[in-house]
Amino acid sequence: MILNLIFFGPPGAGKGTVAQSISKSHNLIQVSTGNIIRKEVSSGSEFGLKLKGIIDAGNLVGDEAISEMLEKNLIELKSKPNFGGFIFDGFPRTVKQAELLDGILIRIKEKLSVVILIQSDEDVVVKRLSSRRTCSKCGKVYNLITMLPEVEGKCSCGGDLIQRDDDKEKIIRKRFEIYREKTEPLINYYEQKGLLKKYDGNVPPEESISRAKELIDSVKN
Ligand code: AMP
Repeated sequence: MILNLIFFGPPGAGKGTVAQSISKSHNLIQVSTGNIIRKEVSSGSEFGLKLKGIIDAGNLVGDEAISEMLEKNLIELKSKPNFGGFIFDGFPRTVKQAELLDGILIRIKEKLSVVILIQSDEDVVVKRLSSRRTCSKCGKVYNLITMLPEVEGKCSCGGDLIQRDDDKEKIIRKRFEIYREKTEPLINYYEQKGLLKKYDGNVPPEESISRAKELIDSVKN
């Protein structure tokens, strides 16, 4: 059975961590538009430099540009053997993107199974993101309070752990504001399609993962 899931919620709600775990347990491909963008930034291309300016300021990349980048990735990823479905992590972030995604899914012959909102309070998020460290090589996420790496400053893949420029308090609060204004309307969009499920993500990572798994399994069965 193919499953296509969307995780959304405020920055720092735990989308990436939960998606990382579920992708392994349910044989799904995690597609993080943040990671796609950061890869382009680290390629040093002119386009990447432009993207860096946008994300470092906590702003959103244009709907059409991000959707195009996403579609290219999906086509390539879908051709992998044993394809079981996608987890969209950080996309869509606007109603326009949700509409563009509907078109992409038709073109690649996929359907959404469920959209999961991870609810999180601003103060919890600020605390969490300030202690977040990200692998500069593979994008894996750690946390200095809840998810320490085995070797200090190093990812399990050997890459260096860094603090993202947009994980500073002032920028985190701005990202939260943008979430409220641009992303929260997705609640209504997916509720109307009968696809929305939600849970309280103000809990430790293991608890958040098991709540997400319960929801997904209730859709599967
Ligand atoms: P994330 O890793 O999902 O927190 O994304 C980091 C940053 O990349 C965001 O703050 C945005 O600047 C940009 N970004 C990621 N996904 C999207 C998207 N779907 N639409 C627009 N900008 C995005």
